[in-house]
Amino acid sequence: FKPPPVVRYNLNNVTVTSNPMENEEHILILTPMSRFYQGYWDNLLQLTYPHELITLGFILPKTKEGNAATAALQKAVHKTQKHGSEKDRFKSVIILRQDFESVLSSQDEAERHKMSNQKARREVMAKARNSLMFTTLGPSTSWVLWLDADVVESPPTLIQDLASHGKDIVAANCFQRYYDTEKKAMSERPYDFNNWQDSEEAQALGAKMGPDDILLEGYGEMPTWRTLMAKKFEPMGDIRASMPLDGVGGTALLVKAEVHRDGAMFPPFAFYNLIETEGFAKMAKRLHWQPYGLPNYKVYHYNE
Ligand code: GDP
Ligand code: MN
Repeated sequence: FKPPPVVRYNLNNVTVTSNPMENEEHILILTPMSRFYQGYWDNLLQLTYPHELITLGFILPKTKEGNAATAALQKAVHKTQKHGSEKDRFKSVIILRQDFESVLSSQDEAERHKMSNQKARREVMAKARNSLMFTTLGPSTSWVLWLDADVVESPPTLIQDLASHGKDIVAANCFQRYYDTEKKAMSERPYDFNNWQDSEEAQALGAKMGPDDILLEGYGEMPTWRTLMAKKFEPMGDIRASMPLDGVGGTALLVKAEVHRDGAMFPPFAFYNLIETEGFAKMAKRLHWQPYGLPNYKVYHYNE
């Protein structure tokens, strides 16, 4: 037996710049996935960041639905990686199956969003994101793009655009297209309410809570009076406008890999009364990394 030579990586040589394409920086796109949408895959394929610099990582639950999604995902991966054109192929693809329970993944949008289901659901999501991140983040990864499996539309330059701001953490504004029955026309509405700036009211609510309780956003029963990025979209506004955030969502979120390496993860427990992606923003801030959001830069969530 001849042991392989020791591979040395110097993390100082891994650049993280606002022009990652020019510097050939490696991007890790991470997606927790309970359902496979062809629209997600098609949108991924149209991203113009060089695919040879992109590694894809997925984690899927071991439920009936998760099995179906895994099969569909594997089919799409095979088609692109084996039979697709050279420019479509990604550097590598990693698919993980969840080794913990996911009782709640087969819920529809209304059921998922019920307040009573939130804590258990967000705990599972946080664990899924952590497993995915800790097993796929490599020594040459410069950036991590968190992209939900139901983001079906984004600008093709999503990675370059988000990175160009040079922020530690930067979130796009996630909207959803729908048919407006009154206007009898297609319209759109804000979807991700987890991108917010904190308020004194929310702080006061948290102060009255037990250490294991969590604050939630977007529920009438729990008015937080936080400033929601989803509500800050301006049709004529500067697409490059940015705002500092205290909570973030995970739908389309670019993170410098060093933020995760530093220890910022997705708390699957109440951390300052915050959980999952919102807890991540809090933890990153405690580590002196500042999250931002781009209110006028939109991506679109699938409409069930
Ligand atoms: P919502 O849009 O806030 O209602 O959240 P989703 O249910 O869409 O979940 C966010 C992301 O996690 C999506 O990419 C889902 O496909 C994925 N997801 C949801 N539940 C699970 C789960 O139990 N396990 C894993 N691995 N992914 C999940
Ligand atoms: Mn979703």
